[in-house]
Amino acid sequence: MRKILPILLILALLAGCAASDPCAQRTVFCMDTVMDIQVWGNERQQAVEAIVEMLTELEKTWSATDENSLLSALNRGEGTLNDAQQAFLDRAVKLQNDTGGAFDPKLGSVIALWGFYDDNYRVPTADELAAAKLQPQWDLGAIVKGYAGELAAKVLADYDVDRAILNLGGNVQTYGEKAGGEQWRIGIQNPNGGDALGALLISGSMAVVTSGDYQRYFELDGVRYHHILNPKNGMPADSGLISVTVICADGAVADALSTALFVMGMETATEYWTENRNFEAVFVLKDGTIYATEGAQLTGCEFEVIHCEN
Ligand code: AMP
Ligand code: MG
Repeated sequence: MRKILPILLILALLAGCAASDPCAQRTVFCMDTVMDIQVWGNERQQAVEAIVEMLTELEKTWSATDENSLLSALNRGEGTLNDAQQAFLDRAVKLQNDTGGAFDPKLGSVIALWGFYDDNYRVPTADELAAAKLQPQWDLGAIVKGYAGELAAKVLADYDVDRAILNLGGNVQTYGEKAGGEQWRIGIQNPNGGDALGALLISGSMAVVTSGDYQRYFELDGVRYHHILNPKNGMPADSGLISVTVICADGAVADALSTALFVMGMETATEYWTENRNFEAVFVLKDGTIYATEGAQLTGCEFEVIHCEN
């Protein structure tokens, strides 16, 4: 069996630290992914340190693989939550309800069956999947990095900093305006490899989160099994999409929605956008076609625009 854990490319979103405009930059490995932080302004160094501390704490709390995490304790029926932790779980459950269950924060036992926790990959039987579904276990992997971006923006607000950009393993969080009033330019990874697909132009503080079938998967007998599961049957979602990017002011929502819209597929995802309109999105279909909702400022590629019919 071939085990593949592709290294997440940090795309050309980094503005770079010019000598005339110094920034503090740190790359850390956290939450099973590479994270990159850049901050500009007087207290940039202190802000970066505080963000790294927050990320470390968040990982210790919500890790699905660390048996000492609070999340593992909750899954054993132990542990006590503080108000902020309870509020985060409540938000996850609300997003589950809002998305008709496409985002499911309790897929832990199903994810474990596929071997995504210990890299011991296998294809479970339908019976095993059905049994696992009856034993819900928290897994917040589809929301916690977006939440981390959101918390990072809160940390930054406590410091004298001008602006920042974070790439938390494909979850990008911008903070503040770029110098000279320019927009942030966030590359969208090409799901089929190679150069970036295109770039999103972003103003101010925003979360830009991508879920894709190329981000984590294994192959067996020529079949690719990826990590975004359809909660209905526990199988890798086969919705015709290979990548969904969500742009939203709220990081946790952006992250949960990128996963949920991937599971829903284009048609239901478009309906969801039309009904909610609190985010913009870019969809890439299996055949390579790109669709973007009308408010997404996508550049550098050809795409169809999804208009709101209401
Ligand atoms: P993301 O990369 O944000 O789309 O999240 C994918 C991760 O979330 C997976 O690695 C699983 O840990 C978990 N997951 C997979 N499918 C779902 C789902 N439908 N709802 C919630 N979490 C999921
Ligand atoms: Mg997600």
